[in-house]
Amino acid sequence: MKTSLLTLAAALLLGITRTLGHGGVELGPNGGRIVEFSKNETMHGEVTLTNGQFHVSILDKDMKPVAVTEQSLVVTGGDRAKPEKPKVEVQGGRFVFSALKGDDYLLVLQFRENPASKAITARIEFDAAICSACKNPEWLCKCSSEKEGKKSDTHDHKDAEKHDHEKKK
Ligand SMILES: [Zn+2]
Repeated sequence: MKTSLLTLAAALLLGITRTLGHGGVELGPNGGRIVEFSKNETMHGEVTLTNGQFHVSILDKDMKPVAVTEQSLVVTGGDRAKPEKPKVEVQGGRFVFSALKGDDYLLVLQFRENPASKAITARIEFDAAICSACKNPEWLCKCSSEKEGKKSDTHDHKDAEKHDHEKKK
């Protein structure tokens, strides 16, 4: 009974984002995906993927890193019919959890600033397919939001360059 209720709740959470697509992606100082961890833009998360591990750094209103102390993160994701909850650990002042199976799935991040605060829910549609325009994976692709914002044909390759630079390590 408990399990089926949890599954249903997670399925509902995951279902809502399906229609939003990947428009409006915001990238952070490390080229990761920015998610909102507050109701008033004072706290953000930056999600990056390295060697099969998602890293979630906390950033303040000026996009400066904040070390994880009493904050907590619960992750739900994967197949809508069978969502998983990867174990979230804290390493080097940020959250770390293993990537799920597959190249296209939803991640629901439930962030708490401290044990007493209400959880803030952020959602990411993870899609590893490479965008032909910016060469970033689709989940880190800003193309659609830039098109909406500027309505011009000039393509800025800055993101792709940054991406290559990071790979050199
Ligand atoms: Zn793109």
